[in-house]
Amino acid sequence: MTTQKGSIGVTTENIFPVIKKFLYSDHEIFLRELVSNAIDATQKLKTLSSFGEFKGELGEMRVKVTIDKEAGTLTVSDHGIGMTADDIEKYINQIAFSGAEEFLEKYKDNANAIIGHFGLGFYSAFMVAKKVEIVSLSYKEGAEPVRWTCDGSPEYTMEKTEKESRGTDIILHIDDENKKFLEQNEIDALLKKYCRFLPVPVVSGFEQEWKDGKYVDTDRLKVINATEPAWIKKPSELTDEDYRNFYRELYPGQEDPLFWIHLNVDYPFNLTGILFFPKIKNNFEVTRNRIQLYCNQVYVTDSVEGVVPEFMMLLQGVIDSPDIPLNVSRSYLQADTAVKKISGYITKKVASRLDEIFRNDRNDFENKWDDIKIFIEYGMLTDQKFCDAAMKFTLLKDTEKKSYTLEEYRTLIEGSQTDKDGNVVYLYTTDPVAQYTYIKAATDKGYNVLLMDGQLDSHFIGMLETKLEKSRFVRVDSDVVDNLIPKADKKDVNLTSDQRDMLTEMFRSQIPHVEKAEFLVSFEALDASANPILITQNEYMRRMKDMAAMQPGMSFYGELPDSYNLIVNTESPVIKRIIEAADSNLMPQLKPIFDEITRNNAEAENVRKTATDEKLSDEQNAAISLLDEQTAHQRAEEKRIATDYAAGQPLVKQSIDLALLANGLLRGQQLNEFIRRSVALL
Ligand code: ADP
Repeated sequence: MTTQKGSIGVTTENIFPVIKKFLYSDHEIFLRELVSNAIDATQKLKTLSSFGEFKGELGEMRVKVTIDKEAGTLTVSDHGIGMTADDIEKYINQIAFSGAEEFLEKYKDNANAIIGHFGLGFYSAFMVAKKVEIVSLSYKEGAEPVRWTCDGSPEYTMEKTEKESRGTDIILHIDDENKKFLEQNEIDALLKKYCRFLPVPVVSGFEQEWKDGKYVDTDRLKVINATEPAWIKKPSELTDEDYRNFYRELYPGQEDPLFWIHLNVDYPFNLTGILFFPKIKNNFEVTRNRIQLYCNQVYVTDSVEGVVPEFMMLLQGVIDSPDIPLNVSRSYLQADTAVKKISGYITKKVASRLDEIFRNDRNDFENKWDDIKIFIEYGMLTDQKFCDAAMKFTLLKDTEKKSYTLEEYRTLIEGSQTDKDGNVVYLYTTDPVAQYTYIKAATDKGYNVLLMDGQLDSHFIGMLETKLEKSRFVRVDSDVVDNLIPKADKKDVNLTSDQRDMLTEMFRSQIPHVEKAEFLVSFEALDASANPILITQNEYMRRMKDMAAMQPGMSFYGELPDSYNLIVNTESPVIKRIIEAADSNLMPQLKPIFDEITRNNAEAENVRKTATDEKLSDEQNAAISLLDEQTAHQRAEEKRIATDYAAGQPLVKQSIDLALLANGLLRGQQLNEFIRRSVALL
C-alpha cells in the first residue's frame, strides 16, 4: 500500500474547529468514547470467535490506557477486531454529516448530543488532541497493519506500518490546553467515573504499595473495573449480601439499603438495573442525582430527570439501557415516548415490588414503614398510577403505633366514627405530646387517633380525602371531642341570654394575652367528666396556615393570628359552681344593666319600624344614635363590673389557664402566676 492522502468526507468545510469550539463543556468524555470503542472491538472479536468465524488465539483481551508524559501522548489500546485500511476509510473517513451546522447550533452546549447523533465518538479525541493516530491490525487473515494520522484539519494520511499484535492503538497527542489528561490521577478518576462497570477489564497505570514512607508503583497493572456488576446478573444468582455489597460499592459509607428492586426487561425496550431504597433521614431532603444511568455498562450520567419519575429521585442505584436516547437534551428526553414508557415501567415495577414485600413479609414492611413512608407518600402525591397501586399497601399508623392498610382502618373505625351525615371521620394528631389531652379524650370515648406527623402528611391527608369516599380527616384538637364526629344526640346548653352575656364577659376578661393568638368564647354542654374549658383550633384555618408555612404564595394566611375557640363546658361541676356563684353575686348587679340594654334595643327597633319608605328622618337617626351610645355605655359598664368580679374568682382564671396549659399556650410570666395561684389554692 502506498501512502494515501485524502480529505475526510464531511460536507461542512472543517468539522474539527467546530468540535473544539462547541464541545467545550464535556471534554472529558473523549476517554469514555475511546474506551467504549475499544471494548466494542473486543466484544466483537469474542463474538466472532464464539461463532467460529475467528479461529486464532484470543489472548489477553483487556483494554489498556497508557500515558507517556515525555511524548505528550495518551494511548488507548485493545486486542479487538482491529481495522484494515478499508475499514478506516469506511468507518472513520466517511462521516455522514448532513445538516451539521444547523444541528450544531441547536445543541452547541451538549457535546453528548452531537457525538451521539453522528456517531462521532472517535472524533471527540480532537477535543483534547492536536494530532490523533490510529495504528491498527485487523483480525482478518493476511491483513496489513495500518497507520492513520490526522492533525485536526480535514486532511489525513494513511500508510502502511509495523504492528505485531492484533488490535488497535488510538494515540492522542494531547494539546497544550488539555495537559491535565496526561496525569495518571486525572485519568484514574475519569476511568473510575465512566468505566468502573465495563464488561472487559480496563487497565491503566500500576498498583501502588507503601515503601520507605511513600507510595510507589509496583509492576502490577491496575485494573479499573468490575466486569460483572450485579445488575447484569440474574436475580436468582444473587444473595441479599450480594445486593448489599453492590450498594456499598456504589455508595461507600452509607447505611445499608432497606429494599432493592432488580429491573429486567427486554420488551418493548431493553432495561436492566437495580434500584435501592436508601434509609432516608427524617428531615425531608430531596436528594437528586443519585441513580446512575448506564448504556451497556458505560456510565452516562447521574442526572436521570425524565427517565425516572420525579418521586423516584429519592432512590439510588443503577439503570442500564441501550434504548434510552442518552445523547439528546433533557427536554427532548422528557418528550420521548420510549423514555415515557421506561418511566412508566419503573413506576409499575416499584409499586408491584412494594406490594410483594408487603404481602410476603408484612412485619418487615411495617418495621421499615417509617423510613419508606415519605417516599410512598411523595409518590402517591405526584404520580397518579403509583398512587392507585399504592392504595393497597400504604399504611396508616395510630397513636398506639399499630399499623393498618386503608381498608383495614376504615373497617376499624366505620362503626364508631361515622357522623350523622354518614361520613367516616378519621381523627389524627400531628403532635401526640402537645395534643395529648385531646387524644386522651378521643380514645376514652372509644375513638382511634392516627399519627400524622410526617413532613408530607398535611398534603397526604388532602389527597386521601379526595380518594376515599365519604371520608373526612379531622385533627383531634380541632374541636371538643363530642363535636369531632357530630352525632344526632347533642345536648343543648341551658343558659339564658343574660347568663351567656355575663359569663362571656367574665371568661373573656380573664384570658391572658397570648402572642399572635385570638380567642372566641363559646358554650357547650359536654360530658360532665370532660374538662371545664377546652381550647380548639379551626381545622380549615389551621390547614391553611400549615400550607402557608410550606408555600410562599400563601403568606396571607401565615400572617393572620391563630384563632382559637375557648369552649366553656356548662356541664362541668367546676363551671356549674362558677355559674351558681355568679348568678347570686354578679347577676343582681348586672340585671338592671341588661334590662336597660334590652329597653334601649327595643326602643331603637321601634324607631326603625316607624320609618316611612325604609328611610329614616334626621331626627330618627339622631334618636337611634343616642340609644346606641347609651347601649355602648351600658356594655362598658357591664364589662367593668364583670371583669372586677371575675378577677376575684380564682376558679375562672384557673380553669382557663389549665386549658391553655394543655395546649402549650401558657408561658413565661403567666405560667409563673398560674403556679403561684395553684399553690395558694392548695
Ligand atoms: P460509533 O462507535 O458510534 O460507531 P465512532 O466514531 O466512535 O462511532 O467509531 C466509528 C467506527 O470506527 C466504529 O463503529 C468502529 O467500526 C470503528 N472503530 C472505532 N474504534 C475502533 C477500535 N478501537 N477498533 C476497531 N474499530 C473501531
